[in-house]
Amino acid sequence: MTPTVQSAAPPRDLLVSECFGPTFQGEGASSGRRALFLRLATCNLCCGWCDTPFTWDWSRFDHGAETSRASVADLVTWATSSTATLVVVTGGEPLLQRDGLADLVTSLTAAGKRVEIETNGTLVPGPALATSTAQFNVGIKLANSGMREDRRVRPDAIRTFAETTACVWKFVVRDLADLDEISGLEARFGLAPIWMMPEGTNAESTLAVMRSLADEVLARGWNLTPRLHILLWGD
Ligand code: SF4
Repeated sequence: MTPTVQSAAPPRDLLVSECFGPTFQGEGASSGRRALFLRLATCNLCCGWCDTPFTWDWSRFDHGAETSRASVADLVTWATSSTATLVVVTGGEPLLQRDGLADLVTSLTAAGKRVEIETNGTLVPGPALATSTAQFNVGIKLANSGMREDRRVRPDAIRTFAETTACVWKFVVRDLADLDEISGLEARFGLAPIWMMPEGTNAESTLAVMRSLADEVLARGWNLTPRLHILLWGD
């Protein structure tokens, strides 16, 4: 689907990077579920290993070429043209457009869709989203992102997710040091449930990381899943 390009920005438009699917939700608690993906543009972080810099790095990518505006109505029409019941909204950082996103969640829910929002957990969702039916898959960035802690760990936002929303905490991990950092966040904010996903660029490296972490993940009471899209398609 190519979102409608408009010259002005009506209030309920969203700045979109891409729409695709159906495919599989590749990460976290819904891994393997058939889903549509809506990727919103712009981000408030700049992680060193970001795999979607085309959504926010305007020094390397052309904003005009990489983004388009789509109305909530356009996006609902796109979503309802598919039998996939799950719509995953990802980014970039979707909560930078939280008002339009709240409208979208309301409309998609009314159309019979289930919505999951992938977020870096640094922005307070606001009452409309916090009380919506959307599930938040919150991936707080770790030190391995290269981001300063005061930018990637925002207690006000994390507490809002933990206390007021349907929330799953997910982390892409490399090694045991990452697990200790997550344990610190778990103890500080009471995160649950926690899902681990191994960092890997192909099936072999993914499985190697999973095997190295599996016993510790079990011992800490967490969940483990591969990133399905890496196993299937290597990206
Ligand atoms: Fe990329 Fe996500 Fe980090 Fe934003 S929060 S820079 S989209 S990895």
